[in-house]
Amino acid sequence: MSQLDRSLTINGDRLWGSLMDLAKLGATEKGGVCRLALTDLDKQGRDLVVSWAKAAGMSVTIDKIGNVFMRREGRNPKLPPIVTGSHIDTQPTGGKFDGNYGVLAGLEVVRTLNDLGIETEAPIEVAFWTNEEGSRFVPVMMGSGVFANAFSLEHAYAARDISGKSVREELERIGYLGDETPGDHPIGAYFETHIEQGPVLEDANRTIGIVTGVLGQRWYDCVVTGMEAHAGPTPMALRKDALQVATRIMQEVPAIARRSPPYGRGTVGFVQVHPNSRNVIPGRVKFSIDLRNVDDARLDEMDRAIRACVAQVAEESGLPISIEQVCYYKPCHFEKGCVNAVQAAAERFGYSHMEVVSGAGHDAVYMATLAPAGMIFVPCKDGISHNEIEDAKPEHITAGCNVLLHAMLERAGIVR
Ligand SMILES: [Zn+2]
Repeated sequence: MSQLDRSLTINGDRLWGSLMDLAKLGATEKGGVCRLALTDLDKQGRDLVVSWAKAAGMSVTIDKIGNVFMRREGRNPKLPPIVTGSHIDTQPTGGKFDGNYGVLAGLEVVRTLNDLGIETEAPIEVAFWTNEEGSRFVPVMMGSGVFANAFSLEHAYAARDISGKSVREELERIGYLGDETPGDHPIGAYFETHIEQGPVLEDANRTIGIVTGVLGQRWYDCVVTGMEAHAGPTPMALRKDALQVATRIMQEVPAIARRSPPYGRGTVGFVQVHPNSRNVIPGRVKFSIDLRNVDDARLDEMDRAIRACVAQVAEESGLPISIEQVCYYKPCHFEKGCVNAVQAAAERFGYSHMEVVSGAGHDAVYMATLAPAGMIFVPCKDGISHNEIEDAKPEHITAGCNVLLHAMLERAGIVR
């Protein structure tokens, strides 16, 4: 096997050019991208990426949930492929890099192998997963979730957008309802490059984030029930003010997270106040709680803390309060071998790097339940994504792709 050395690099200008070309489809006035899953624009984006893959000599298969696998054959086609990928759907106010970078970095790896005439032992595949963003259709990470059997194909097909169109109808309409059964596709190892979507790398002035895992999440709905009454005639002692009681719990959410550093996260992002009128004492408040942490032990501890808080506030206020967990995502720990391959590549190139844990979910989380998996993060400006001003530096985009190239080659094996 040939030696991996730092002279073996991707073409950063070509990768950047492809990113900018794909970003033209659904380009927004503020410099972002709006290309929602399974729309006409998504079809155009898919068609463009598939045309690039075919031009690079890759074969293409599509599964029944519209996941697309683009394959460069290895010397031993019987070996499971080393796969990389991400998604090309975006948020309504999305950027150019979220997801798109992971897919086009994979394509750039293949273009580089073609340029250099490198044959790999195992096949190399680049995948893009359907509806990662979950903006038009719920649940998020739909394609990779069906592939990993986290939920059924029928469940995904039945999801509808606000106009009533179903995932199945839209897949068929845009021509991406494939034949292959999701999951019926071997994966030897999976890597995903992604912008960090947070501020840690930029703050530490590092180029490469070696992602060791992804935070687990518990989502809850909490409802405080009081009694509506006129804001004037009702004395303070005789009120059942649901909002004032709810804010005591809301303040405890970040406090619980702060007591579990460095990875504890606690957010109240959604609040409904009933009847939401200036001169009416709120009678009912519904709000969301989002708790995250790096492992189940810490996440369970946060769960106990929020439930104890709810019980105590209910007792002291005398108001009924319900808390219901509506979602749970298990913490993900990436395979040591994949993490090490990413680290070795970053060191070989002399890129500044650090270990990071992702606070956001990714397709790689589902792949990690099926195969050894790892992720590579690069900084994004001010840590911002899911925003049209999302931005990343060309040299960081190039660096992440170089690391991907070497990590994939280490797993796939170079023949010549
Ligand atoms: Zn993404």
